[in-house]
Amino acid sequence: MPYKSIENAADKYDVVVIGSGLGGLTTANRLANAGHRVLLTEHHHRLGGLATWFKRRGHIFDISLHGFPHGMIKTCRKYWNRAIMDSIVQLNNIVFDNPQFTIRTTFDKVDFTSILTNRFKVARASVDDFFNTVAGMNFYDDRTMTTRELFEQFFPGRSDVHRLLMEPISYANGSNFNDPAITYGIVFSNFMNKGVFTFSGGTDKLIEMMVEELEKNGVTICTNSRAERIVIDQGRVRGVEIDGRFIETACVVSNAGILNTIDDLAGRASFSAEFLEKIKPVQVNNSSCQVYMGIREGERLNDIGDLLFTSTAPAYDVDEMLDMETRSRTFSLYYPKTRPGHDRYTVVASMNARYDDWAGLPEERYQKEKEKMIERSLVDLERYIPDIRQKCDWLEAATPKTFQRYTLHTKGTSFGTKFEGLEVSRSLFNDVKGLFHVGSVGIIMSGWLGAINYGVIVANDADAYLRS
Ligand SMILES: Cc1cc2nc3c(=O)[nH]c(=O)nc-3n(C[C@H](O)[C@H](O)[C@H](O)COP(=O)(O)OP(=O)(O)OC[C@H]3O[C@@H](n4cnc5c(N)ncnc54)[C@H](O)[C@@H]3O)c2cc1C
Repeated sequence: MPYKSIENAADKYDVVVIGSGLGGLTTANRLANAGHRVLLTEHHHRLGGLATWFKRRGHIFDISLHGFPHGMIKTCRKYWNRAIMDSIVQLNNIVFDNPQFTIRTTFDKVDFTSILTNRFKVARASVDDFFNTVAGMNFYDDRTMTTRELFEQFFPGRSDVHRLLMEPISYANGSNFNDPAITYGIVFSNFMNKGVFTFSGGTDKLIEMMVEELEKNGVTICTNSRAERIVIDQGRVRGVEIDGRFIETACVVSNAGILNTIDDLAGRASFSAEFLEKIKPVQVNNSSCQVYMGIREGERLNDIGDLLFTSTAPAYDVDEMLDMETRSRTFSLYYPKTRPGHDRYTVVASMNARYDDWAGLPEERYQKEKEKMIERSLVDLERYIPDIRQKCDWLEAATPKTFQRYTLHTKGTSFGTKFEGLEVSRSLFNDVKGLFHVGSVGIIMSGWLGAINYGVIVANDADAYLRS
């Protein structure tokens, strides 16, 4: 795609959006659609942020297209276009396999209710009560209750039920039993309610369709263009320095991580002491590891499921899931149906991970640990596809360092910050006029759906500011 380099951008824009994750893309599109002159600047050569892909020897590997909630259908129709919405399809075959249970599910409320009552023998009244309670949770509710307390209230002592209901959410947004129940409620109601969906054609097709829409709306897109500094004077945004060039603007929407935005782009000196106090408790979420397996041309894989939540750990344990040698991983299977017209199969194993475990390793040990992770993933996958090694002609691994390098996010975070980051992100523009943040924060604003929806909210804020 022919993107501009920053030398070809104009000297002045109404808004500069820094970063092209799904949040940044959506904000840029909405603001351009509202009639503002928008520059979208991305440090990488490709748009999409974590919604990305790469090609190796004829294989196309999707990084974060494992599944998203039903809500994406409405969101894409309302805030992008009908063609994007029409490419969303359901994944019907979700598998859980661990020492506590093996089940296949369509990942919707009806099926979960049936599994909980028939298989796990939980009273129907408790199941209904749980679903009604989480569906009724909203942002303004009590935030002191933890997810652990929520589960103990409805399913006391049932570690198997806790695992079924928590493990997919831990993979989806890095949250765990210690996070506020409210975040669980909002995400669970979105995610484990009406099934899990994917984008037919892959991430590359989605981003291509989004770019068409951005171009139609007149957004100037610059890639390989890293924003170095947001220029702030007397509490107001004046412009952005991008690769040594100053672009004048009164409004910046940063899709860089919230802490990167404050520390690296705006600088702490731009904020009040009161605001800086608010930042202190902000914790970044965990990062990820992945193993990419390309299946040799001409080889086939039997349908063993679309998404497999597998573990040989005895029970759900968030520390075990983050361990470098975790025995818990999801396998995403990409059959040719995922990419119509592309007759290839790929498998991606995803694990949660801590940046600090990987970042300090000397190079030789780092490479060795990557190889060991590939090997562990193959051993696990052999339980479902015994001849997987013979079928693969490409194996590669990514670690938190990889995610940090491509997105620049603090500690390579995959899902932004914990809950307290949301208020910081939302109140940035109260402290510096014209400065907004969009992107994964607060657990509820992460994932493809969260990032796009947040993009709409922030576009509305920035639009109101520009019009005032
Ligand atoms: C391994 C993995 C699997 C995932 N799987 C799923 C899934 O199955 N379903 C789902 O819904 N979600 C998934 N997610 C989460 C989802 O991908 C993200 O929450 C979402 O894409 C984040 O969007 P964002 O707007 O926060 O921006 P990001 O994607 O984080 O993008 C930020 C962008 O800003 C750019 N940037 C940063 N600093 C600068 C700078 N100074 N100058 C210019 N550009 C800059 C970065 O290069 C990047 O392009 C997954 C994430 C990971 C890591």
